[in-house]
Amino acid sequence: MGLSKTIWTTPTEYLSREQPEDPVLFFAPMVLQTTARRFLDGFPGLVTYAVKSNPDEMVIANLAAAGIQGYDVASIWEIELIRRAAPGAAMHYHNPVRSRSEIRRAVELGVTSYSVDSQSELAKLMEIVPVGAEISVRFKMPVAGAAYDFGAKFGATEDDAVALLAQVNEAGYIASLTFHPGTQCTDPMAWDSYIRTAASIASRAGVAIARLNVGGGFPSHRLNEVAPMLEQIFELIDRVTGEAFGDARPDLVCEPGRGLVAESFSLATQVRAIRDDAHVFLNDGIYGGLAELPLIGIIDRTEVRGPDGALRQEPGRGRIVFGPTCDSVDRLPGELSLPGDMAEDDYVVFHGMGAYSTATVTRFNGFGNFQLVTVMGLKG
Ligand SMILES: *Cc1c(COP(=O)(O)O)cnc(C)c1O
Repeated sequence: MGLSKTIWTTPTEYLSREQPEDPVLFFAPMVLQTTARRFLDGFPGLVTYAVKSNPDEMVIANLAAAGIQGYDVASIWEIELIRRAAPGAAMHYHNPVRSRSEIRRAVELGVTSYSVDSQSELAKLMEIVPVGAEISVRFKMPVAGAAYDFGAKFGATEDDAVALLAQVNEAGYIASLTFHPGTQCTDPMAWDSYIRTAASIASRAGVAIARLNVGGGFPSHRLNEVAPMLEQIFELIDRVTGEAFGDARPDLVCEPGRGLVAESFSLATQVRAIRDDAHVFLNDGIYGGLAELPLIGIIDRTEVRGPDGALRQEPGRGRIVFGPTCDSVDRLPGELSLPGDMAEDDYVVFHGMGAYSTATVTRFNGFGNFQLVTVMGLKG
């Protein structure tokens, strides 16, 4: 991925002048800073960023400049990245499974906040992490409303969480709770039962928790028809925490990935072929920047432009869209409505592409050679 040093005005300016043949991810730092401010102004607690959703150093630097002071990290690589790109920021090592050597290294690098979801991993933490650090017990619930189920891999059951929380507290660590309601939760109610369950776990364990981390899961704008309701989610989290915990209200933390970063990138792909006026073949697909679409559904916020930058205006028509590799699963789910007058060499621009796109690109079949271009704005 090559970083262009020039800052362009819009994606269209770049596409029409350069006519790139590789996919381009356009990054608008101002859009990222605006979204960061929306979280900082609206969320009733500490906003941290889930680094895995987009670990680009420019993203971290812009979030730090916007005032994001904490990062959810899952590996030593991410910890070292944050030390470099946002020195002094808090790091929450919230991958609940780590090797002993990773825990030792994190302690050396000054990490003082960890999550845990099992007895065996708590024993490892207690052996290595100095007392006085924060350990957050991660619990899970069966919850509908997310694009996919995060509880399938991580999270203690309620009963196990009660026992873990009591042990953490007794051992002299700062005892907290954390959960992740699932990604792309468009329904604010996804947080409701989690927060109430957290209060019940704390009360059964007899522990006044220091902090409650309500996870990521904040939605981005993927479908034209479904705009994310961040402020309603913030309001619900604030209200339900007050109702559930009363006088024992913990400080709140959130760790959005997608909700913070998605809107600040658009992905431009080029049409390599329209086979017999039916199937559209793009220069990017599910092994590249569009990897998430088969997992959590299509993004229909697209625009199609000719190589000269002119917008294709004809009404949309459902098309089957394939990526460039020879693998038959390299296909976007369902059909994408694309203008009737679209042609070979046109650019199909997908908006809201900043999360889980740059990070998951592969070089499968010789594709995946991306460019990253900085722009003032993503519209036009
Ligand atoms: C991936 C992840 C996040 C971010 O999830 P989004 O759905 O992108 O907001 C937050 N916390 C943890 C522990 C994660 O693993």
